[in-house]
Amino acid sequence: MQARSLFTALSALLIPLAAEAQAAPPAKAHAIPQESSRAIPQATPRGLSGGLPGDSSASLPPHVSKSMPRPSDKRRDAAPLSPGAQALVERAFADLGGRKPLDCHVHILGLGTGGSGVYASPALRSWLRPWSRLKAGAVLAASGVTDPARADQQYVERLLSLASDFPVPPRLAVLAFDCRHTPGGERDLERTEFRIPDGYVLDLARSHPDTFVPVASVHPRDPHALARLESLAAQGVRVIKWLPNAQGMDPSDPSFDPFYRAMARLGMALLCHTGHEASVASADQRLGNPLLLRRPLDLGVTVVMAHAGNRGSSEDLDHPGRRARNFELFLRMMDDPRYAGRLYGDISMLAQTARSTGDLKTLLERADLHPRLINGSDYPLPAVDILVQPRVLWLAGFLTERERRQLDEIRRANPLLFDFVLKRTLRHPKTGARFPASVFVEHPAFAWRDAPEFEATPAVTSASAPIPGGL
Ligand SMILES: [Zn+2]
Repeated sequence: MQARSLFTALSALLIPLAAEAQAAPPAKAHAIPQESSRAIPQATPRGLSGGLPGDSSASLPPHVSKSMPRPSDKRRDAAPLSPGAQALVERAFADLGGRKPLDCHVHILGLGTGGSGVYASPALRSWLRPWSRLKAGAVLAASGVTDPARADQQYVERLLSLASDFPVPPRLAVLAFDCRHTPGGERDLERTEFRIPDGYVLDLARSHPDTFVPVASVHPRDPHALARLESLAAQGVRVIKWLPNAQGMDPSDPSFDPFYRAMARLGMALLCHTGHEASVASADQRLGNPLLLRRPLDLGVTVVMAHAGNRGSSEDLDHPGRRARNFELFLRMMDDPRYAGRLYGDISMLAQTARSTGDLKTLLERADLHPRLINGSDYPLPAVDILVQPRVLWLAGFLTERERRQLDEIRRANPLLFDFVLKRTLRHPKTGARFPASVFVEHPAFAWRDAPEFEATPAVTSASAPIPGGL
């Protein structure tokens, strides 16, 4: 069953990718979108849209922004849900009290089409790297991408369409993703699988302010990192996303202290992957150790630990020579009274088949932690069939058999809604405890347009600023 699902996803994308390979000359190694092809606008009424030092892909050409998909682009292929599945959906929203649902962890992906500025490593499309190609193919196919020439636009259209099917429109935190950087501060494209520019997610959010909240990604080794933080804060961005395992930063590095102090001063939170990383090429799993995040916390930064450390084990830095599960280290951090007001966990992919259902039980039991948990989907991963299997949760007692069938049905219609309803439905096999509504609604750290300075403050950079590194 799992193999068939993966095969279906793969074959759906391999055909268009093969067509693309024939239609286009092979990508030059590490070719990246160049400034000249993007027609970056000069100043706009709000200043340079997403214009950040060292970020030439700061903005979309005007024609791209105008042609961005609207929420009204409803999908036509979704069959109506059965009454039982519809009732399960309604139950998932019943106790939200009219509050907007929040998904704090939504990836934006693409191949760099339509002037998005996205960089995708040639390895993701190379027949010489079959696993990378298959992985990228499966993920993009599951995200509704059928035409490589419109991949970035189709990805966003699909996401908006999925969101528009929610009974109460959700707010989705869309994540930028900075390049890996070398210890010397250079962009390391050799080891960067993809890059999603801050300017792209900012423009998406400006085009769809009721749905998207921009989450930027700034590598602290970027020589322009502090200026980028200032500019992003002035544009209302409240959260920075890191995936240390893949981006190559050690959150405990003392040389990042000025970066953390700036984040704390600007009121920015850090949404940081914790635990092992399996989706993006990872150079160093040690960097997913939750204990490394003490440094930003001690300097006053609010931290959201993505996935609640729910994968793999790390060195227990408090007991040298020992190892501990990352989830245990996440709990140790959450239980540290010093961090009670500033440390949160997102529950994205906690119901993933490959992850421990024991951790899910623990979090359901720990009602004291529920006010500090935030819903996230890690979309598009819930759309990849093999990764989340309601059947496994049913067998472990988190769902009834009927709920499993209904969730399978919801998933076929809308994997983003499925992820939300699944986590609202599952219950502790023994106690029946569920995650409360507060986990699933808007969170102050993920506010955006209410930033008082948002409308008034122009970006601090010039559109004609030189672009180090050519990205
Ligand atoms: Zn993620």
